[in-house]
Amino acid sequence: MKPYGVNELRKMFLEFFESKGHLAMKSFSLIPHNDKSLLLINSGMAPLKPYFTGAEIPPRRRVTTCQKCIRTGDIENVGKTARHGTFFEMLGNFSFGDYFKREAIHWTWEFLTEAVGLDPDRLYPSVYLEDDEAFDIWNKEIGIPAERIFRFGKEDNFWEHGAGPCGPCSEVYYDRGERYGCGRPDCTVGCDCDRYMEIWNDVFTQFDNDGNNHYTELEQKNIDTGMGLERLASVVQDVDSIFDVDTVRALRDKVCGFAHAEYKKDENKDVSIRLITDHIRSATFMISDGIMPTNEGRGYVLRRLIRRAARHGRLLGIEGKFLARLSETVIEGSKDGYPELEEKKSFIFKVLTQEEEKFNKTIDQGLSILADLEAQMQKEGTKVLSGENTFKLYDTYGFPVDLTREILEEKGFSIDEEGFKAAMEEQRVKAREARAVTNYMGADATVYDEIDANVTTEFVGYDKLSYESKITVLATESELAEALTEGENGTIFVEKTPFYATMGGQQGDTGVIRTADGEFEVRDTIKLLGGKVGHVGRMTKGMLKVSDAAVLEVCDKGRTATCKNHSATHLLQKALKTVLGSHVEQKGSLVTPDRLRFDFSHFEAMTADELEKVEALVNEEIKASLPVVTEVMNLEEAKKTGAMALFGEKYEEDVRVVSMGDFSKELCGGTHVANTGVITAFKIVSEAGIAAGVRRIEALTGDGVFAYYRELEQKLSEAARAAKATPANLTEKIEHLQAEIKELRSENDALKSKLAKDALGDVMDQVKEIGGVKLLAAKLENVDMNGLRELGDQLKEKLGEGIVVLASAVDGKVSLMATATDGAQKKGAHAGNLIKAVAGLVGGGGGGRPGMAQAGGKNPDGMDAAIKKAAEVVAEQVK
Ligand code: ATP
Ligand code: MG
Repeated sequence: MKPYGVNELRKMFLEFFESKGHLAMKSFSLIPHNDKSLLLINSGMAPLKPYFTGAEIPPRRRVTTCQKCIRTGDIENVGKTARHGTFFEMLGNFSFGDYFKREAIHWTWEFLTEAVGLDPDRLYPSVYLEDDEAFDIWNKEIGIPAERIFRFGKEDNFWEHGAGPCGPCSEVYYDRGERYGCGRPDCTVGCDCDRYMEIWNDVFTQFDNDGNNHYTELEQKNIDTGMGLERLASVVQDVDSIFDVDTVRALRDKVCGFAHAEYKKDENKDVSIRLITDHIRSATFMISDGIMPTNEGRGYVLRRLIRRAARHGRLLGIEGKFLARLSETVIEGSKDGYPELEEKKSFIFKVLTQEEEKFNKTIDQGLSILADLEAQMQKEGTKVLSGENTFKLYDTYGFPVDLTREILEEKGFSIDEEGFKAAMEEQRVKAREARAVTNYMGADATVYDEIDANVTTEFVGYDKLSYESKITVLATESELAEALTEGENGTIFVEKTPFYATMGGQQGDTGVIRTADGEFEVRDTIKLLGGKVGHVGRMTKGMLKVSDAAVLEVCDKGRTATCKNHSATHLLQKALKTVLGSHVEQKGSLVTPDRLRFDFSHFEAMTADELEKVEALVNEEIKASLPVVTEVMNLEEAKKTGAMALFGEKYEEDVRVVSMGDFSKELCGGTHVANTGVITAFKIVSEAGIAAGVRRIEALTGDGVFAYYRELEQKLSEAARAAKATPANLTEKIEHLQAEIKELRSENDALKSKLAKDALGDVMDQVKEIGGVKLLAAKLENVDMNGLRELGDQLKEKLGEGIVVLASAVDGKVSLMATATDGAQKKGAHAGNLIKAVAGLVGGGGGGRPGMAQAGGKNPDGMDAAIKKAAEVVAEQVK
């Protein structure tokens, strides 16, 4: 067997599968596209998911790739096992409903034994326990003796991810020889040690799991395979580990050189050497795909990898910055397969060096603080660093928490993980709250303060909606950046922009910014100090870098609508002055694509007649198709022309004067239509006071007016439908309905009082004489307070002289009333006191005058007791 190099093996694999009818595709970016389940691509299959699910049509039903992969889950193994890296390349062949098990297994075997020439006696396949089909192919067709084929359970040999497509796997292991073994008597294929190394995994996606482990055969069966390129190379080159294969080894040697260390002399150092070797590969590839070191998500993975590498460099005694120089070797070794590395070389170096510098600064500071904390812990006899201190190191000093953890672990200490998490969460909540008030679109407002004051932006958008310019500055939500990548929110600055930034009441433009590599959706454009224009939004595709040439495209529809509203605002101001008088001054305005808002001084609500006049006047000037002309002139000169200016506004030396025929002339920096006819129509939708002497008008133009009327029309037909009428006879119908309601109401009242009287029954039987005063105290069914009062009056009349106490409950709410005639009062009766004394029994309170009192309560069960008590109270009163 020839000891093929990594680059040769990659080529051999792709060519082998091309010869089997596969389309060789380029490695996809490490950043997943439209896939929220993954932070980074971790297998050859991951970026092909849409082809597997049928969401997208593959360019061919047989595809082969060599995919760059990152597996942060393996980070703890890196440096410690012979076969794990956070970065590796995965070779794969894929079938989307084309060939299946038989071909996949045959080609795996053919590639390994014939194309590469591995010794068949050292290869061991494994299959899923129940997969007799795969077993038979290996056994009967390939000719591997049954005892050399291993059957493993679901854990190892069944690929599944919740509900959906899944299936058995078949792996190929390579026996690297006894010297790599763990020596245990039961060491065989499947053992965790480095002797039998898994090199290839074929997944046969043949079932669909309905989520409850009911499996049905898929109609379209797929093949998904993966083989670690570095692992294959380590076997082919017969070396100890993936860190000894040609390309990786060159890198490892360079690390040794920087550290003045010899490999394989000191196991501790070797771990650091391997770790740096791996991490710099990951970092280089991640940066080439546009990932930037940040404190979140992918960016945080990168930051952590760079900082771990830098720290292990320190452990090895490497002096000065070394990561960019190492990355040069990564690029040299891998540019064959990944030309983008060479293209982005200087950018990669810059990012690595900047991050290393930042890290060095924080690390020196953090290490000394941590040393103090350690001493303190020793003194206090504790082995756990408090969550609060861990967080402080991380948050205030920027010291990475995994470093704190690692350094402390080396000394037998640990950190209070729960406490740390709690402190993190608390800060997150605080940050969110703070953002809500001070920041723009969740962006940290202070990030813009870091931009060089010399950076400015020229606005070229009065007559252009598209323009090409160079990117000068990029910012994420929290820091300035060299690049922005898919999914990130951020702000872009360029030399010249056609995007109008929010100013003078006109809302900023939206649109798209594109470069050869990426696309950014502009959701708002803002004006910053020093003449800078920030395009705020989100990366929707690929990446953008500082210095890239970008095409800036303003959303045509949004801008046109805004222009109509802005020009209409000028017409409105003049119309208001004409109709209401010259005291009208602009107090504020807001112009968006959807509507316009105009605040002005005026001292009373506008009448319907005034509103109609203003609206008509504006519409007349629209109909007159006045040309809109813009001139730039000296401020003094402008004022002489009689142009309206904002009272108290500070203007530049040179100002823009916008005129609409002879009707309106205003100082204005905004964007306008070329002719008032374009506005088409104008409609005031509201007029209201917003402060003493200030009114606000909201209005619509163009398509907005039509949409407004369409909506009105729709509401009208809905209302007509609800009233079982047509829009034409709706008013008449409502008048009828109202008359009917009136009639029903009076009928209802009559019925109610009849019901109350019935409820009264023969209460007159219950009249008692107490100390010469007649008392009628009774409980009634279902009468409300109004009814009780009415009944009370009637009963009083019947009694002649005396006291009436009535209680009744409706829906659990008790009403209680008492009334006493003049005669009864003379004998000492007091309705108010009476109520006060008994209301507690129905769970309420109340009172009133001597002649009339009432109370409410929540306890109907207490009514009988209240009635009883009333007699006792009256007895006391008239004694
Ligand atoms: P292991 O159990 O050794 O970690 P795995 O089961 O995680 O391997 P798969 O998910 O089947 O591996 O990935 C397919 C192939 O990718 C493996 O057969 C192996 O060759 C390679 N591979 C997986 N993880 C790594 C890694 N961290 N570094 C290098 N190669 C890897
Ligand atoms: Mg693994």
